[in-house]
Amino acid sequence: MISTGASAVAAEDLDLSYYQSLIALHEVKLPPGPNDWMMHHREPGQSIYEYIASQPVRPDDTRNKIYIMKLGRFGSEYTEIIDKTAEFIQAFYQLDVAFIEPMSLDEIPSHARRFHPTTGDRQILTTYVLEEVLIPRLPGDAVSLIAFTSSDLWPGEGWNFVFGQASIDDRVGVWSVYRNGNPQKSEEDFKICLLRTVKTGTHELCHMFSLPHCPYFECAMNGSNHRMESDRRPLYLCPVCLSKLIWNLEIDPQERYRALADLAEQYGFDAEAAFYRQSLDAQK
Ligand SMILES: [Zn+2]
Ligand SMILES: [Zn+2]
Repeated sequence: MISTGASAVAAEDLDLSYYQSLIALHEVKLPPGPNDWMMHHREPGQSIYEYIASQPVRPDDTRNKIYIMKLGRFGSEYTEIIDKTAEFIQAFYQLDVAFIEPMSLDEIPSHARRFHPTTGDRQILTTYVLEEVLIPRLPGDAVSLIAFTSSDLWPGEGWNFVFGQASIDDRVGVWSVYRNGNPQKSEEDFKICLLRTVKTGTHELCHMFSLPHCPYFECAMNGSNHRMESDRRPLYLCPVCLSKLIWNLEIDPQERYRALADLAEQYGFDAEAAFYRQSLDAQK
C-alpha cells in the first residue's frame, strides 16, 4: 500500500542493515573507458540522506500508477516485448502498470516528422511527443506516463537521433525500440531486444522517481554514452540506489526480488535471475 510522503521513514530513523548485507554481491564501479559516460560527465553521486532531502517524486494516494502508451505500429514480437516490459516494470516498482490507448504515427503532424538527412531513417520529434501527445493524456492517477515508439526519435536541430527523452517535472517520457535489434530474427535476438527495452524502461523510470546516475557500483543507474555501455549495465540496483527506491515506494525488498527472480527466469534472463535469487538468499 502506497501512502503519502508525510508518512515516509524519516532520514534519522533509517535502518540500512538490509542494504549493508547486500554489498558483498555488488561490484564497485569499474573505471570508465575513453568513450564511457563517466569520462565525460562529472556526477558526484548522492547518498540516501541527500536523496530524501531532495524531496523526490513519490507516488501518493491519488497518483500511484505507471502508464504506458504504444506509439506506432508494433508487430506481434514487439507487442510481446512491450507487454513483457510492462510486466517487468510492475515487478521492479511494485506498482500497478496499465496501458492507455495506443496511437498511430500517422497522427504525428509533418512538422514533427522527418527523414534523417543522411541515413533516411524515419524519425519523430521527441519534444512534440512529450508536449503535445503525452502531457495532455497524463491520467489523473498516473505517477508517470511513458511511451514506447516503433519509430526512431530525434530531439531537434543539430541532433542525429536519441534513444529517448523525458520531462521529469511533467512525469512523461518517450523511448524508442527502433534501435533495439530485430526480435523476429531469432530467439536470441528477441531476448536481446527484450533485455534492452526492459533496461531502458527501468533506468528511465528510476530517473522519474528522482534517482540520479550512480557512480558507486555497477548498477542499473549508471550513466551510459553508447550502446555497448548500456548493454553492459546490469538489470539491478546497487545497495545505495536500492535503498532510495525502497524508501520512496515503501515496498518489501524481498517480495520485489522474488517477483523479479520469477520473471527473469520466465524470460530466460538466467544471469539476472541468479542474481535476484542470491540477493534473496543474502538474508537467510
Ligand atoms: Zn540516465
Ligand atoms: Zn547504484
